[in-house]
Amino acid sequence: MTLKIGGGVYGAAVAWHLARRGEAVELLEAQTIASGASGGPGRRGVRANCRDHRELPLMARARELWPALHVQLGTDPLFERTGHLQLIERPIDMPKAETRAALQNRFGIETAYLSGAELRELEPDVAPAVTAALHCPGDGVAFHANTTRAYAAAAVAAGARIREGVWVERLVAREGVVEAVVTSDGEEIPVGRKLLVFANSSVRMLVAPWLDLPTWNLALQVLVSKPLAANPVRHLVGHASRTLSLKREPDGRLMISGGRLGRWDHETGRGTPIAEEIAANVADAVAVYPSLAGIEIEAADTDHLEAESIDAVPMIDQLPGNPHVIYAAGWSGHGWAIAPAVTELLADWALEDRRPDLLAPFAVSRFAAG
Ligand SMILES: Cc1cc2nc3c(=O)[nH]c(=O)nc-3n(C[C@H](O)[C@H](O)[C@H](O)COP(=O)(O)OP(=O)(O)OC[C@H]3O[C@@H](n4cnc5c(N)ncnc54)[C@H](O)[C@@H]3O)c2cc1C
Repeated sequence: MTLKIGGGVYGAAVAWHLARRGEAVELLEAQTIASGASGGPGRRGVRANCRDHRELPLMARARELWPALHVQLGTDPLFERTGHLQLIERPIDMPKAETRAALQNRFGIETAYLSGAELRELEPDVAPAVTAALHCPGDGVAFHANTTRAYAAAAVAAGARIREGVWVERLVAREGVVEAVVTSDGEEIPVGRKLLVFANSSVRMLVAPWLDLPTWNLALQVLVSKPLAANPVRHLVGHASRTLSLKREPDGRLMISGGRLGRWDHETGRGTPIAEEIAANVADAVAVYPSLAGIEIEAADTDHLEAESIDAVPMIDQLPGNPHVIYAAGWSGHGWAIAPAVTELLADWALEDRRPDLLAPFAVSRFAAG
């Protein structure tokens, strides 16, 4: 039996992979499936463009999986290929973008460095200040909450047990070896053959007796506009020097995000949006697409905590002295897109007791002194 903590995309997808391969799986989720970073309004970016080079092979595999994932999970389409544009305004960002285009192409991620004129053929409404862009035509967007719930439903159909409303307080160890978990109701649940800790914002707390994970939690902000008569944004859009990400929704709304923050309340377990952060996000959007001037924001969401890591690259590893305990955290605002590939590999690791080569770069030993 494999016990898992966390019902986000990582917990739900690995539960599906394991259950369909005949493993008995129990998943413990503090709230409901997709109530953490894998939930919330709109869609998430499925972007290879501008990722750390260690994540590019994972992204190449994820982009093979995304288009037909809904067929495997028996649900409505989840992914739309829009292409991603990383917009550039400052000359200092241009040489890096040209170099990055070459790097990404070497990893099989088709990427083009576009001049201002070439960019305007794809995205005619960008401001004159935007003078270049990095274009990844294979990137897109996906419905995150629907995908996560579809993984969970498919896991249950394959035999997994999912328990919602179960908060895991700590791991129980005898002489350093993890044997069980304890819930906030005092229930002690044996870990079985494997324990997979995919509780994102709680991973640091749960593994703290063994190691001090260099991660922290952020209440990332997403703004959703009222429907626009004419939406000028055609692609998934990012920006080299502004804290900005833009997604066009199928109903004419625009999502504005990119890394601005709300204030997290530990008592309520919810985020409160900050007026200045909303205004700054909108101002950046209008600076890049002037026709968005006057855009009205319908909702500001900061309710979904994400763990950020010190080098903005996830930590995927086994607990020291406990090869049967695997944890993954620190997705740093971009763990969504790679999830179909990473969860496939995590299931292999759990079943075959061997760390897949593609996950080796994400071990915490990369921070070891000396
Ligand atoms: C606003 C926002 C925008 C984002 N945009 C993008 C994007 O465009 N592209 C991209 O690639 N990525 C994006 N990300 C990142 C991506 O969504 C996350 O990296 C990914 O969803 C993390 O999945 P997870 O399963 O690890 O975590 P989560 O979805 O957070 O799941 C963890 C689950 O564990 C549960 N849990 C926590 N503690 C406990 C406990 N002690 N006991 C039991 N259960 C517990 C939580 O309730 C939660 O449901 C974004 C994230 C946010 C928040």
